[in-house]
Amino acid sequence: MPGLEDLYREIILDHYRSPRNRGELEAPPAYRAEGFNPLCGDEVVLYLEVDPATETVVDVKIGGQGCSISQASTSMMSAAVKGKSIGEARQLIRAFKALMSIHESKLEGESDGTDLAADLANVHLGDLEALQGVVKFPVRIKCATLAWNTLAQALDEARG
Ligand code: ZN
Repeated sequence: MPGLEDLYREIILDHYRSPRNRGELEAPPAYRAEGFNPLCGDEVVLYLEVDPATETVVDVKIGGQGCSISQASTSMMSAAVKGKSIGEARQLIRAFKALMSIHESKLEGESDGTDLAADLANVHLGDLEALQGVVKFPVRIKCATLAWNTLAQALDEARG
């Protein structure tokens, strides 16, 4: 029986090999944001179409290049925020960052993560949980969070 780590690796490789929502949107009206992780050379280009009436992310397209973690995380992020409201998308950003930092602070023995657990409560991360394995490799955390920092930039623009 395959272990959880094998399952997580499969999910990450699947998103890396077959990224979801790859492409471009006309900007404007879509919002375009770019992220770069100089430690690893990862690039993320994100297009976000927001319906101003409902403040909902109606379409997402991604581009860019880089390591498997950064590109898989971008693909997962795009699938996770499509159809969500801006508020829900921001909640996902907080939850994903909490997922990364809970393990980080546990590794450093600074905290048991109870403060951060509040951000994770009631948020369904789904496939994104596959990325929690990267916290064992601190240098890769920036690869995993790049897509989410880029999403935060795009959401800031959408709020104008
Ligand atoms: Zn990377």
